[in-house]
Amino acid sequence: MLDADFFRRWMTATSASVEREAERLTALDSPIGDADHGSNLRRGFAAVTVALEKEAPRTPGAVLILAGRQLISTVGGASGPLYGTLLRRTGKALGDAPEVGPEQLAEALRTGVDAVMQLGGAAPGDKTMIDALVPAVDALGDGFGAARAAAEQGAEATTPLQARKGRASYLGERSIGHQDPGATSAALLIAALGEADTD
Ligand code: ADP
Ligand code: MG
Ligand code: MG
Repeated sequence: MLDADFFRRWMTATSASVEREAERLTALDSPIGDADHGSNLRRGFAAVTVALEKEAPRTPGAVLILAGRQLISTVGGASGPLYGTLLRRTGKALGDAPEVGPEQLAEALRTGVDAVMQLGGAAPGDKTMIDALVPAVDALGDGFGAARAAAEQGAEATTPLQARKGRASYLGERSIGHQDPGATSAALLIAALGEADTD
């Protein structure tokens, strides 16, 4: 079973890998965006870490709702409301259970990803974070390792796509040939699940 501590570790592991990869994320956002994805997420997840330490939420749902709220209020770019919605809606779907099973997490994340698609209007193949998140959720039944591999594969598969949502879509065909920054950071978020799973 996964308790509030697991979810706190998930968020701090995400924060650490976003910090580590911030320059790469910003570099990916440079040819097809405005070169701020790394700094946006670094600021957002740093705020998440601080808020979790200060407020110490006691349930998995409350951890994710707090994290989502921090992202929405501290990240200026498109990714803030989108990741914020992902975490808030996933947290809401977990309700106030003190511990949740992996199946419940998979189901809740599905709800969260659906909410992101509704908010941003992106579908798989539009060259966004959705291209990593949907395959990850599909693979989650086979474990965190499988979800990570699926997310990384999904992120890499955005390279030949033409963007249909977000800033990159303004470039039309010129968005082809670059990996999407948001799909890349989504793979970091999913990979952090495995890092949080210490026991
Ligand atoms: P901004 O584009 O406002 O500078 P970021 O650089 O932080 O925001 O985030 C860009 C990423 O957000 C993109 O690489 C893409 O994955 C994701 N994104 C943008 N628009 C959408 C959308 N409508 N739906 C899903 N994801 C999106
Ligand atoms: Mg950007
Ligand atoms: Mg921006």
